Parts: sequence; structure tokens; C-alpha cells
Amino acid sequence: MHDIIIVGGGFAGVTAARELRAAGLSSLIIEGRDRIGGRTWRDTHNGHPFEVGGAYVHWSQPHIWSEITRYGLKVGWGSEDDIDEIRVLSQGKLHTLDAEKGYVLLEEAYAALYNAKPQTDDLFPFPYDPLTHREWMPYANVPLSKRFKRLDLPPLQRDLLYAMLTSDLSSPLDESGQTELLRLQALLGTDDFAKLSDVNGTYVIKKGTSVLIERMLEDSGAGVCIGQVVTQIDQTSEGVVVRTDQGHQYTARAVVVAIPLNTWANITFTPALNEAKQRVAQQRHAGLGVKVFVRVKGKFPGLLALAPEEHLFSLLMASHVEKGNPWSKGSTWLIGFGSTAPEVFTLEWARDALAPLLPGVEVWT
Ligand SMILES: Cc1cc2nc3c(=O)[nH]c(=O)nc-3n(C[C@H](O)[C@H](O)[C@H](O)COP(=O)(O)OP(=O)(O)OC[C@H]3O[C@@H](n4cnc5c(N)ncnc54)[C@H](O)[C@@H]3O)c2cc1C
Repeated sequence: MHDIIIVGGGFAGVTAARELRAAGLSSLIIEGRDRIGGRTWRDTHNGHPFEVGGAYVHWSQPHIWSEITRYGLKVGWGSEDDIDEIRVLSQGKLHTLDAEKGYVLLEEAYAALYNAKPQTDDLFPFPYDPLTHREWMPYANVPLSKRFKRLDLPPLQRDLLYAMLTSDLSSPLDESGQTELLRLQALLGTDDFAKLSDVNGTYVIKKGTSVLIERMLEDSGAGVCIGQVVTQIDQTSEGVVVRTDQGHQYTARAVVVAIPLNTWANITFTPALNEAKQRVAQQRHAGLGVKVFVRVKGKFPGLLALAPEEHLFSLLMASHVEKGNPWSKGSTWLIGFGSTAPEVFTLEWARDALAPLLPGVEVWT
């Protein structure tokens, strides 16, 4: 029998396993998918790596950054090409700006938004540890969209920033707390838009996120069961019993539940989770963003396109132009970010998502 069962084999679960080993405890990770990594996963297609989920890292993320340096991993730039064109859908019309002009507009808009922030003392005196000092609490339920209402900006500039932040925060801004952004600013020590963009979309682990989690898993010495969705956790006088959808049952002294908040309600806990946990499990986290790779005909090396949140993609950018493909005009892999996911991803959905931002583009099937 292992000392501890960990439910969920993402970064949180694997970190817990490694730290438990350091404390002299053995663990067993039970993971529902057929791989570890959870919302991070590096895949390869035609010899090119694709970070399918979380990809970008930054030194303002203290915990992940310390893992990267601990394992001596190299960090590089995520995109092969600089952005040279920014398209923005505003008031139903598609505008094309050269990148320099677009970034100036974004910087100005962002500075205006920052100046509309709560005029109070420092809300995040220790931004890496937001739960210790909670000066930010009174503002937690104020959506970011509310700050936009106080902005006096031309519609194009407003829509540009609105779309960018919808993508950065992976949720409609009516549902995103402004504290998300205020904390990021506190971590960075600046409201500079260019620095903020660096956090959300510039640096990647060169060998990929999967290498990091594999190294951490090795150090954990944990057992791993994949393809087992945990459905029930019972705490008894002898320890904890964990049951899965495959009809298996595992026991340990204690359990660490390292799954996303939005999935807590899928497990039956005995005794039940406390009232506060049940409430947040029902309420769910606002972040429901999607990241989709689509290959289209034609070359769009330096593209960045933005659309209001009611569109399927808030942000579309070039990943890379595919080399050596047989189609004479080449093809480009694009990455689309949206704030709501469809039930099923289909070719039709991809076409509909691309159409407002790249009219007439052909999806490569
Ligand atoms: C599209 C997208 C892009 C992102 N981009 C970035 C980025 O660029 N930079 C960044 O820092 N972060 C990014 N993130 C966020 C980052 O990926 C997550 O914060 C991080 O991966 C969360 O790790 P976790 O271990 O907490 O959860 P997860 O990675 O979700 O791990 C939880 C695991 O639990 C498993 N699980 C769930 N329920 C059960 C169950 N009942 N039984 C068994 N197993 C279960 C899941 O299958 C999963 O493997 C992104 C996220 C997404 C979705």
C-alpha cells in the first residue's frame, strides 16, 4: 500500500508526488487520461513540435520558473516570426494595422485601463502568495469588463484591448475578476503592456513542457495508473479508499486531490466536502478557454488577429509556416484562442471560427 494517493497527473499532482517523496512518503498517482501532463502536452506532427495546452512561461511565475532552473532546462522564443500585421474585428468591420501602430494603440489602451484601476494602496504586497495578504478581497468580484465602462477610448482601440485580454484571461471579461490582471501587474512590478505580453505569449521551454513533467515524475518515484477516472473517495478509520470508473479500488493513508476545480463535482466524497468547497465546485472557475491548431492554405507568417469575445476565436496567430509540403503556395499552422469551447471540434467549427478574421481562407484537411 502507498502512503498517499494523488488524484490527477498534471503539474500539481506530480509536484505533490515529488514533494511527498522528499518528506519520506510514497505515492500513487491516479490519472484519468492515457498520459500524464493534464493541460500541458507536447505533441509532434510532421516532425514539428506542438504545445497543445499550456506553453508559455515567464520568470514572473515563481513556482514554474524555479522548476525550469532546477532541472537546467533552456527557455527560448515560442514563435519563429515577428508579428508584422495586426487584424482587428471592430464594430463588424475587419481592420488591418501594421504591427507597430497596433502595439502603440494597445499600449495606450492598456495604460488607460490601468489608470482606471482601484485607487487604493498596494492590493498585492506579496503577489506570489496572494492568500496570505488579502487586501485584494473587496475587488475580487468586480469583473474586468466594468473597468472598460469607465474608459473613454475610440471603439477600435477599445475592441483591440478587450479581445487581447479575453484571450489572455481565457474567459469573457464579464466573468473575469480584475484581480487576475492586478496580480499580474504586481508580479511584474509594472503596467507596461509589452512586458505583460511577454508573460502570456513569448517564452517556451525549448524541449517542451512534457520534458519538465517527466523529469519531475522521475524524481517522485511515484507509481502511476493512467486511464482511471476517480469517481469516489471515502475516508474511513483505516485510511482512504479511492474508486475508479474501471471498477478498481485503491487504499492509502491519505489522498491529495490535484484536479481542476471544475471537475471536483464529478467525484463523490465521503464525508462530503465542506460547504465552502461544494459551493466553489458548483460555481466553477471562469477560465474555460480553448487553444486550437488549424492548418490553412497560404503563408501568414507574422499574423496576429483579434476579435470580440462573441466570436469563436478572440485571438488568432501564426504558429509556423509548414516547410516542404506539396501545395505550391505553402500552408501555415495557426493557433486560435477562444473563451468558450464547443461540445465537439469539427472542420465546420474551425471554418466558422476562422471566417471573420481570415475571410476566404481554406482550411487544409
Ligand atoms: C489552452 C490552455 C493554454 C494554457 N496556456 C498556458 C500558458 O501558456 N502558460 C501557463 O503557465 N499556463 C497555461 N495554461 C494553464 C496551465 O496549463 C495549467 O495551469 C496547468 O497545466 C494546470 O495544472 P494542474 O496540474 O493544476 O491541472 P491539469 O493539468 O488539469 O491536471 C489535472 C489532471 O487531473 C486529471 N483528472 C481530472 N479529473 C480526474 C479524475 N476524476 N480522476 C483522475 N484524473 C482526473 C486530468 O485528466 C488532468 O490530467 C493553459 C491552459 C490551457 C487549457
